[in-house]
Amino acid sequence: MKDIGNFSDETKVVHAGIEDNEHLAVVPPIYQTSTFKFRDAEHGANLFRGEEEGFIYTRMGNPTIKAFENAIAILENGYRALACASGMAAIHTVFTSLVSKGDHLICSKAVYGPTVTLLNNVMRRYGVEATFADTSGIDEVKKSFRDSTKIVYVETPGNPTLVISDIRAIADLAHEHGALMVVDNTFMSPILQKPLDMGADIVLHSLTKFLNGHADVVGGVVVVKDEETYKNFRKTLNQIGGVLSPFDAFLVHRGIKTLSIRMEKHCKNAQIIAEFLESHSKVEWVRYPGLKSHPQYEIAKKQMSEFGGMIVFELRGGVKAGETLMNNVHLLQLAVSLGGVESLIQHPASMTHSSMDKETRLQAGITDGLVRISVGIEKSDELIADLEQTLQLL
Ligand SMILES: *Cc1c(COP(=O)(O)O)cnc(C)c1O
Repeated sequence: MKDIGNFSDETKVVHAGIEDNEHLAVVPPIYQTSTFKFRDAEHGANLFRGEEEGFIYTRMGNPTIKAFENAIAILENGYRALACASGMAAIHTVFTSLVSKGDHLICSKAVYGPTVTLLNNVMRRYGVEATFADTSGIDEVKKSFRDSTKIVYVETPGNPTLVISDIRAIADLAHEHGALMVVDNTFMSPILQKPLDMGADIVLHSLTKFLNGHADVVGGVVVVKDEETYKNFRKTLNQIGGVLSPFDAFLVHRGIKTLSIRMEKHCKNAQIIAEFLESHSKVEWVRYPGLKSHPQYEIAKKQMSEFGGMIVFELRGGVKAGETLMNNVHLLQLAVSLGGVESLIQHPASMTHSSMDKETRLQAGITDGLVRISVGIEKSDELIADLEQTLQLL
C-alpha cells in the first residue's frame, strides 16, 4: 500500500489505494478478467500455497478490487478490507465468518430491514439466535448478553429512525463479555465517523450508498483490524462467493475521490432542510442528529464529525399527508436507497421496512407516518421550495 500516512481525509480520498502501474496511468486500469496466467507450473503452485504474492482467479482476488479495498481500509483506519457484492453480502460474510450453531448475537432494534430478516430467517435456520435491543442506551444491551453471545451488531445512526448508539460504551461492554462489536457505518461513511478508532472490531458498509455516491453500483465492504480476522473472512468470502466485480470496484474507487466534498454538502443541505421542517407548522416531528431536539444529540456530537444526509419526519396528518407529499414532489425523487448525489424520498413502513411485521416496526420506532429523505447535493433553496410547494397542498 502506498504510504499516504498522516494526510487529512480530504487528501486521502483522492489518493488512497492508487498505486503506480506499468504505464504510469494516473487512473489505474480496470483488470476486467476472471483469471490470471501463471508463468509456469511452479509459479501456479506457489500462488496456491500462498508462498508468493499474486493473483489467481478474480473471486479470490483482483488488482482493481484490491486497490479499492486498500483505499477503504486506509479511510477507516483498518488493517485490510474485503469488497463484497452488496451490503447484505458484507453483513452475511461477517455473520458466517464469526458465528456457528448455538451462538447468539445482539443487534440494534433500528437497523436496515433485510438485516433483521437475515437474522430472523436465514441465520436462525442455522441455529444462530439474535436478540434485538435498543442500543441507544446500554441497559438493554447489558441485559441481552448470554454466555453464547459472539457479536454485538450496531447500526448508528440506525435506519430509518436515526437513533444513535454510543460506539465506545458498547464496544467496552462487548469486550467485557468476550464478544466482538460490529458497526454498520453506511449512514456516516468514514468521513463522518470512524468506529474502529472508538473500539469497534469490525466495520462494514453498503457501498451502494454514500461511498459510491452516484446510485449506479450495488456493493458492500467489510473492514477488519487484524490479519487473523482478515484471513478468516477472506476464506469465508472465497467460499460463499459474494465478491464485488472489478468494474464496480473501479466505479466505487472513483466515487470515493469526491466523498469528502460530497459529505460536506450532504450535511450542510440536511441541516438546513431539517431546520426548515422543524419550524414548519405542517410537520409533527423531525429527527436529524444535528438538531438539538435529537434525543442522542450529545452522543452524536461526541462520535460524529458532522451529522450526515439523512432526515426522518412525520407530517401532521400521518400516513395520508405523507402520501400527498411523496406524490407531489418534483425535484426529490420517490425511490428507496440513499447516499447518492440526488435527493430521494421514501416511506419505510410500506417500502424499505415492509418485510418487518408491524409490531416489530413500531418497537423499532418506525411509525406508519414516518417519511425518510436522503438529502442530495442539489441547491438547498431549490429542495426547500419543492418541499414547501407540496406542504402547501396539505
Ligand atoms: C442499504 C443498506 C444495507 C444493505 O446494502 P445493499 O448494498 O443494499 O445490500 C445495509 N445497511 C444499511 C444501513 C443500508 O442502508
